[in-house]
Amino acid sequence: LRPDALSVDTDIRTYPIRFVHLADVSAHLNDLGLHGPRVVVITDENVAAHYRTPLVHAFEAAGWTPHVVVVPPGESSKSLDRLSTLYDTLLPLGLERSTPVCTLGGGVVGDLGGFAAATLLRGVPLVHLPTSLLAQVDSSIGGKTGINHTVGKNLIGSFYQPHAVLVDPETLLTLPAREWVNGMAEAVKHGFIADPELIDYTERHLVDILGHHDLEATVPAVRAAMHIKAQVVADDEREAGKRAWLNFGHTFAHAIEHVAGYGTVAHGEAVALGMRAALYLSHRRAPAALDHDRLDALLAQLPTPDVSGLAFEALWDAMRHDKKTKDGTIRFVLLHAVGDPFVADDCTRASVQRAWDFVQQSTA
Ligand code: NAD
Ligand code: ZN
Repeated sequence: LRPDALSVDTDIRTYPIRFVHLADVSAHLNDLGLHGPRVVVITDENVAAHYRTPLVHAFEAAGWTPHVVVVPPGESSKSLDRLSTLYDTLLPLGLERSTPVCTLGGGVVGDLGGFAAATLLRGVPLVHLPTSLLAQVDSSIGGKTGINHTVGKNLIGSFYQPHAVLVDPETLLTLPAREWVNGMAEAVKHGFIADPELIDYTERHLVDILGHHDLEATVPAVRAAMHIKAQVVADDEREAGKRAWLNFGHTFAHAIEHVAGYGTVAHGEAVALGMRAALYLSHRRAPAALDHDRLDALLAQLPTPDVSGLAFEALWDAMRHDKKTKDGTIRFVLLHAVGDPFVADDCTRASVQRAWDFVQQSTA
């Protein structure tokens, strides 16, 4: 489970994923050809409370001049208003095209700060320092940046590849428990679409990871999940084919979030439920290739809120009106086997309803 060197290979550049200590970030920037004295750090209040001071001190001790911008935590910071405030803060500093911008935080800070880096002076060097499990295994890799609009999530943005992703796993020690579940749901998803070994590993270590936040158990899973994300996006930078596989569990997940109300069921929790439904649909089509009981038991270990009130009618409607649904055809990423996904656009309403009934009954 431990690929030695991790990197992301894209049309624009190949960039490394490194496991580091936050205190050594400035040395890594130098090593990447990025130089001070100035550096911008974009973070949120929760993350700043733990890591702002040590990171600033480490930069200063190495002769850098860090400018830290702190935004409020949460999805609402992925807004045009917040982006505008960022420009207002950063542009008067007289940044240069070579001034690195580091995002220190979860996916929100990565998406917002990444888009700011993509657009400031038509693009300044971006380095992600992901501190949530989700950002480490998922959002820091692949180059998607952006903000939300009232019409929908992530509708304004660009593809902008970072110079590096520098991960300090120890930052996970302050991450709230529910965010561990969110991140592990996406990590397990990566296992389902690409890596039976990661699924086996997760089966053996999920209790240590989610129950004890044991880093020794967590880091190999993070590494393996990052490796998969890096490979999928390298093969398919602009989302034509393989990248769609990353939507395993997401057809239901988006509908669940929409119907339950965003925030009521967290994204990763919705993905966990959606994967159970997708696994059920997959097993119905290929009973011999998937050990449903075993795999479903793994997914059932991801704690999720009560969804007994979510009627299938409403979910089905939401799926039909999802922005990724074309001509009313609902697409599911399903599995021939673990590590062998495909896109199905021929699931009947009755089969999808049976899958939801199964999920509801088994979570009741
Ligand atoms: P987040 O950034 O809101 O972080 C979750 C919470 O954890 C926040 O309250 C944050 O302050 C806190 N936090 C983060 N790291 C912490 C730490 N080490 N210690 C204590 N608290 C910490 O959310 P997220 O789950 O990281 O990311 C979700 C966002 O990512 C969404 O906006 C989603 O659209 C986006 N996303 C983007 C991509 C992509 O490819 N760009 C992929 C998946 C998701
Ligand atoms: Zn997701």
